[in-house]
Amino acid sequence: MTRAVPVHPLVSPWGRFGLYSFFIDAPRPAIVDTGIASSPAEGMAPALEAIGRRIEDVRWILLTHGHIDHVGGAFALWEMTGRRAQVVIHEADAPFLRSRRAHVAEYAAGRGRYLRDPEGEAKVAAAADAVISGEMEPTLLVRGGETLSLGGGVTVSVHAVPGHTPGSVAYVLDGQRAAFTGDAVQVHGAANGFPGYTDPGAYRAGLEHLRDTVRPRHLYLGHPYRRADGTPYGVELDEDQARQALTQSLDIEGRVARAACDCLRDGLRETDSPYSPFGRVAEELGYTGDPTLEPSPFFTTLAGYRTHFDRTP
Ligand SMILES: [Zn+2]
Repeated sequence: MTRAVPVHPLVSPWGRFGLYSFFIDAPRPAIVDTGIASSPAEGMAPALEAIGRRIEDVRWILLTHGHIDHVGGAFALWEMTGRRAQVVIHEADAPFLRSRRAHVAEYAAGRGRYLRDPEGEAKVAAAADAVISGEMEPTLLVRGGETLSLGGGVTVSVHAVPGHTPGSVAYVLDGQRAAFTGDAVQVHGAANGFPGYTDPGAYRAGLEHLRDTVRPRHLYLGHPYRRADGTPYGVELDEDQARQALTQSLDIEGRVARAACDCLRDGLRETDSPYSPFGRVAEELGYTGDPTLEPSPFFTTLAGYRTHFDRTP
C-alpha cells in the first residue's frame, strides 16, 4: 500500500500560453514535465518556494514525451538540482532530449511535407535553439512497466501510451490512481482545436488502456484541452471528467479516422485549400482552424493516417 501524497500544478509563462508541470510532494520529490528553458527559474522555483519547497531538492524529472514544450526545461532543471535528479524518458522519445536536430527531423518527416513552408525547417531549428535549455543524455530510459520509488513507500508506475509521439508515457501515482498523461489525451486538441498524434492506432490503444486499466481518479493533462464545443477542460480532472475526456478523445479519433479513410480511399487531391491534400477531411469534420499554426496537429495527424493507410494492404 502506498501512501497518498499531494500534487501541485506549476504554471510557467510562454507568450500567451501557460505551460504546465506537476510537483509530486513525496520524500524524493518529482516534477512531471519541464516546460521550456526559462520555466524552471521563472515558473517552477517561485511556485515551489510559495509552498515551502525547494527546487534543488527535486530528485525525479519525469518527462511524458519529447516535445519541446515538455523537455525544453529539463537540462536547466537538472542543473538546478545539482544534477542529482534522475531524468526519465521513454527510449523512443530520448532522441528529442539528446538533440535539437531531432525536432527538425521530426518536422521534416511529418507535418513539414504538407506545410510547404520554405522557411519551415529553419523556424523549427530556431525554436529548438531558443527553448531547449540543453542537449543531454537521460539518466533513466523506460519502455513502460517500470516502477519508480519516490521514497517513504510512494511509487510511480510507468505506462507506455504511444500515439501522440512514439515514446509518450503516463506516470501513475500508485494507490491514488493519479495519472500524468502529458499530451496522450487530446480530446478535441488545445489551441488549434484539432487532436495531434502521429500513430492513430497506438493513440487509440493508449486511450483505451487509460480508460480500462488505469481508470484515473485524478487526471493531469499537459494543456487545457478542449471539448467539442470549444470550452477547455482544466489541467486537473476528477474521476468523472477524466472518464469524459477519455471517451470524447476516443469519439473524436473515430470521427477523424472515418473522414481520413474516406479521403484516402478516394485518393488525395491537391487543391488551393489550406488543408490540401486533405481538404475533404476538414470539410467533413467542419474544421476551420488555421492548419499552419505550429505544432500543426491537423497535418501531423493526417500524415499519421496516410502512413497507416499506405502500409495497410
Ligand atoms: Zn506534445
